[in-house]
Formats: sequence, C-alpha cells, structure tokens
Amino acid sequence: MDRRTVLIGGVAATTAAVLPSPKPKTTTTTTTTVFHSLFVWAHPDDDTLGGGAAIAAEKASGKKVFVIMVTDGEATGVRDLLNGSGTSSWAGYTHNPTAEDYAPLTQDDIKAARRREFETAMRTLQVDEFIYLSLPDGGVDTTSVQTAVENYAQTIVNQYGGQIDLKGHTYKTVAEDHPDHLAIGNALHNIAVDAPTWLRSSRYFILWELHGSSFIGLTVARVNAIGADAARVVMAGRAYEAWAPVQGMFAVGGHSVPEAFTALFSDPHGLYHS
Ligand SMILES: [Zn+2]
Repeated sequence: MDRRTVLIGGVAATTAAVLPSPKPKTTTTTTTTVFHSLFVWAHPDDDTLGGGAAIAAEKASGKKVFVIMVTDGEATGVRDLLNGSGTSSWAGYTHNPTAEDYAPLTQDDIKAARRREFETAMRTLQVDEFIYLSLPDGGVDTTSVQTAVENYAQTIVNQYGGQIDLKGHTYKTVAEDHPDHLAIGNALHNIAVDAPTWLRSSRYFILWELHGSSFIGLTVARVNAIGADAARVVMAGRAYEAWAPVQGMFAVGGHSVPEAFTALFSDPHGLYHS
C-alpha cells in the first residue's frame, strides 16, 4: 500500500458543513511524502522465492524498489551436482561437464552464475537498483548487514527524499532456520527498534520452504501478485531455471530448491509478518 501524506495549508483537508466566515487569503502549500521499498536477501533466489510477489506489488504501486543481495550464494551444494557428483533430482540425471561441454565449475564460476540468475530476475521484476554486499555465504553477521542497510537507505533518501519501507528475511526462529536469513532478519529488526527517521515500516518475509509451518505466535499476512505482475514473478523465477552453459547459465536455483519454484509458479505470493 502506498499512502501519501498531503498537507494543505499545514493541516489535513477536511469537509466543513458550515460556511466559514471571511478570512484573509492564505498561501496554500502542498507537501507530498514519497516512499520507497528496500528489500534485503541472503542468497540469489531468496529475492524471488521470498519477495518476488512483494517486489512486483511495490513496483505496481509506483514506488521505487531497491534490493541488497547480501551473499553470492557460493556455498551451495549445487556446484557438486553440476560437477558430476551426485544426481540432481531436478535435472533427473547425473551431470557430466565434459560430455555436456563445460569446464568443471569453480567457486568463482558459481558466484558468477548465481549473479546472472539474480540480475536477470531483478531486471524482469524491474527493480530500480540492486547492490551486492558479498558477505561469506554461511557466515553472514548481523552487524555488517545492519551497517550496510543503514548506509544504503541513507543514500537512497539523500537522492530521492521520502522514507523507506524495509523488507527482508524474518528474525523469528519459528518461521526461519537458516543462520544467514536470521542474521539479516535480526539486522532489520534492530533497525526497526532504532526507528531512524528514514524508516516508515518493516516487514519480515517467510521463505517457501517454511510456508506450511504453523508460525505459532506470529500474525502472518499474504501479499499476492495478480495478472501481469504474477506473470512477471513467474518469469523472474524462470531465470533461476535457465540452463545455457555456453552462456554461463547453470540453473543453480532450479537445481537447489526445485519444489519451492514449482510452488511459486503455481501460486505467486509472499508471506510476511510485521
Ligand atoms: Zn537463502
């Protein structure tokens, strides 16, 4: 929801049932507060699986959308699958890099591949800007994230004015179990407690793997993507299933969490708490 604050003559406009007495003419000033959305995600694919529907909805409301990608997701076990160790349930066979005509992937190759998927998804969702923190996958710390988010938010507000709606992983252990996700959730929650002037609201998103949980003690709300926005979320998800080794696209997201993408495609939405 995009609520604008419009002040006319310094007070909120009201309707009056009685005729006012003649008054001296006053100058009318109009102040409009703009709001932007800043999303913070741990790994390439969290952005679309956790927040694709919300990003699409925020863009549809006319807001600028910014995204921080905290790691490059280099620790994924998908690298072993792509290098021929183990059988991918999603691909349905054991990869053979030589036969499939690509060099075995280094950790840097995986980083680059995951960035390609993320960047394609973000451009499909038409976000205004994304940045990388490149913190270690599996070693995200709350303080580094908090500092980076505060700095980036201040940069956004300095450039565009207004306030920011902050969104990302939940900090509630009833709805999350990955330490990187929780570190980010805690950073966002710390910022909410500090309540800086640039912050308007905070929302904490729950990833697909845990959508079936009961979330005891949490009031969970749903954000839907509909029509063309839903189609855009699905297309962003397909970026994570793109298989084109000659172009450095290895469908890392698809190999990693195929069930989550299947669920996203069947019903693009997000779950969050405040
Ligand atoms: Zn993640």
